[in-house]
Amino acid sequence: APRPPDLHALLAEAAARNPEGEALVQGDARLTYAALESRVARLAGGLAARGIGAGDRVALLLGNRAEFVVALFAAARLGAVFVPLSEREATPGLAYLLAHSGAAVLLHDPAFADRLPPPAETPVLRLRVAVPGPAWDALLDAAPLPPARAGEEDVAALFYSSGTTGRPKGVMLTHLGFVHSAMHYERAMRLGPADRSVVAVPLSHITGTVAQVLALVRAAGTLIVLPQFKAREFLALAARERMTHTLMVPAMYALCLLDPEFARHDLSAWRIGGYGGAPMPEETVRRLAEALPGLGLMNAYGATETTSPATLLAPEDALARRDTVGRAVPCAELRVTDLDGSDLPPGEAGEIRIRGPMVARGYWNDPAATAAAFEAGWWRSGDIGALDAEGFLRVLDRSKDMINRGGLKVYSAEVENALLAHPSVVEAAVVAYPCPVLGERVRAFVVAREPVPEPDELRALCAARLADYKVPERILLRDAPLPRNAAGKVLKRELRMLDETTTEAMP
Ligand code: ATP
Repeated sequence: APRPPDLHALLAEAAARNPEGEALVQGDARLTYAALESRVARLAGGLAARGIGAGDRVALLLGNRAEFVVALFAAARLGAVFVPLSEREATPGLAYLLAHSGAAVLLHDPAFADRLPPPAETPVLRLRVAVPGPAWDALLDAAPLPPARAGEEDVAALFYSSGTTGRPKGVMLTHLGFVHSAMHYERAMRLGPADRSVVAVPLSHITGTVAQVLALVRAAGTLIVLPQFKAREFLALAARERMTHTLMVPAMYALCLLDPEFARHDLSAWRIGGYGGAPMPEETVRRLAEALPGLGLMNAYGATETTSPATLLAPEDALARRDTVGRAVPCAELRVTDLDGSDLPPGEAGEIRIRGPMVARGYWNDPAATAAAFEAGWWRSGDIGALDAEGFLRVLDRSKDMINRGGLKVYSAEVENALLAHPSVVEAAVVAYPCPVLGERVRAFVVAREPVPEPDELRALCAARLADYKVPERILLRDAPLPRNAAGKVLKRELRMLDETTTEAMP
């Protein structure tokens, strides 16, 4: 009988089609599809032998390493739910995520061990395994486990995403959603077994998992893992491994173009450059097209809640329609609505709403947040956009209080809460300031009573609580109260427009 689309089937098909093909490359280590599948089956067996089974949450704090791929497919094979954690997260955040997801097992890179919360804080977590390490080897020493049969609507993963309330939400993503999104990336980039991608974006984020790992496994191509993005290393690896495609955030392209050695690398095999996660400056598109005339560009707009792509701008439209993020992926629908949810005519700007097989089933154990963001299958994106008569979408602005720092999302409320934890801080408001490479950076306006803290002290306070990229790069101490409207809401628009030189003078 045909299997319902699930993550296990994605790997099984690749292993059947291309058993001796290279699946994963990291440093000198190379793994074929047959070897990957065997490792996945044994890891699933090892986890099952330790009591991990269907529905259990398997947390992954691995950064970008090949074992992330092995672990996610092993979870799928068990019918378990994988939960990628960001390697940038600080200890309090990790404690929250492990407790909230109710993870039964954590597979972590030993490099992150000192950031883990003490075991007493995560009583539900039964098993912590350093990867690589002897306990990991012991897990892989098990007999292969036959795959569980997942239903296509079953939740395969929880991807945590921060929110306007400052509390992360576990986005419930399904097997069907993953297969659907992987297929659309595979089709749009026309991937096949000869394709090779260097993964530069974090695998723990939705686009890393879907556009890089899953789309390539669907095509039975080769994933080359770069532990940490540095433009110089990325370009050297891309040339050496004859990379054919990748998907990165606009800031990574900007950093590549800034590298003086860019033109010296032989990147002639590179045919598709996908981008997404943040608005792409037209200037970067123009310069890329100039530097690599053979490169097809593809814009992907989406979110964690849409299992990555909701729209794609195909390479053939990339230059002519570079003011847009393209059209809805097949089987998905887009609406642009006013605040009441009524559809707006083409050309008018409103909130973007998205429906389709790849839309999340809601937020794990959070009915209130789910009800606020999902309505009859439609997800409210919090992005402001406009559709044209041909269905091309432009993303113009945001209604959510978020800063997009080079593709990494910083929700103001989370940073404001960290600042307000200081006993002298009376008011705090966090807004973006523009950056030519990252697009936006984080700045905070703070009102404090005596003894007024130094900005460095506030930064240290944030660093102890927040992921490193969320720590405000500029902190402006104000004498006057924050501007507020009649309802008491901080007027962030006014703060955003405050003269850059005012903040420039601050440390
Ligand atoms: P990742 O976590 O892998 O970076 P993501 O960016 O797709 O994934 P989220 O972190 O959920 O997912 O952020 C989604 C938001 O990013 C969107 O709501 C939108 O504001 C912004 N965004 C994503 N893609 C684009 C794009 N192509 N152009 C402009 N903005 C984008």
